[in-house]
Amino acid sequence: MTELPPPSLRLDFDAEALAANWRTLDRMSGSAAAGAAVKADGYGLGAGRVASVLAGAGARDFYVAHWSEVPAVTAEVASSQVAVLHGPLTDADCAFARASGVRPVLNSLAQVARWQASGGGLCDLMVDTGINRLGVPLSSLGDPSLSGLEIDTLMSHLASADEDSTLNTLQAERFAQVCASLPARRRSLANSAGIGLGASFAFDVTRPGISLYGGVPRAEFAGAIRQVAFPKAAVLQVREVAAGEGVGYNAAFVALRSMRVGVVSLGYADGFLRARGPGNALKYQGEPLVLLGKVSMDMVVIDLSFAPKVGEGDWVDVPFDLPVEAARSGLSQYELLTTLGRRLRSS
Ligand SMILES: *Cc1c(COP(=O)(O)O)cnc(C)c1O
Repeated sequence: MTELPPPSLRLDFDAEALAANWRTLDRMSGSAAAGAAVKADGYGLGAGRVASVLAGAGARDFYVAHWSEVPAVTAEVASSQVAVLHGPLTDADCAFARASGVRPVLNSLAQVARWQASGGGLCDLMVDTGINRLGVPLSSLGDPSLSGLEIDTLMSHLASADEDSTLNTLQAERFAQVCASLPARRRSLANSAGIGLGASFAFDVTRPGISLYGGVPRAEFAGAIRQVAFPKAAVLQVREVAAGEGVGYNAAFVALRSMRVGVVSLGYADGFLRARGPGNALKYQGEPLVLLGKVSMDMVVIDLSFAPKVGEGDWVDVPFDLPVEAARSGLSQYELLTTLGRRLRSS
């Protein structure tokens, strides 16, 4: 097919920062090995791309949520290094696990029975120690079906690791008790924030996600984690807006004076949600360019009154320091990453 012309929106991806973040989290995991959560298309940055960089840095355990997310990851790493967190919901999931060689994470006695009925084999087991989301409840751990499992990684998930909550130590204590009663090759409790809680949370394998990609869920990570994703958008058009004229839908901004504005190729379809509009700014060579009016699907308008050097075709930076932008917008650092639109991902 004819080659596409250059895009007006792109995501600069710092592979070295991603690798450095993994090494930092691996070091902070102490004697445990850091794996990598690459679900939700690598937190919006491209599962194949991030898996390839993380494998190069030394990661050997990759976690996705859906079976549909497996092929992008196994294109880059061995299938024996991939686990599916949602587990087998159907016999077809079991068959796919067996054929592909990825491990299901069993989350209930029903999933245990389904996996065993399909032939069993190496699997992971999620135990619920207090999040009340997925996982076999503590009250079911005496079930005889569990003793027949061949468990690679016995895991649980922390509910409040990003806070100093008493639930953290309670979950770690409960998990240690589970580990004493259920044999497994390896044990795993901590997500990114859990790594920040210290050595007693690390066990054998940690499962960082958000901090690999630049997220700072706890103060322990400040200054240690680097920004990985840098969205940039081009100015499509520069125009003059007369005093008294409105800008964009519903004239949510009205010019008090005649002003020079720029229309930028970035909208909520790209993950730049309306919550990020008011009071926010894009940047050009570090200088803020204030957003005017509502964010549209494909466009935002910025004030260029004090930036005469910015013209049509110039690239402006979309601020994406995750803790800063989360505080500014009220969106979580996770939401900022995973809502990045397809037009950014493919760049
Ligand atoms: C998403 C997820 C992780 C990664 O969590 P972060 O907070 O992004 O580090 C780890 N474990 C499980 C079970 C998950 O669902």
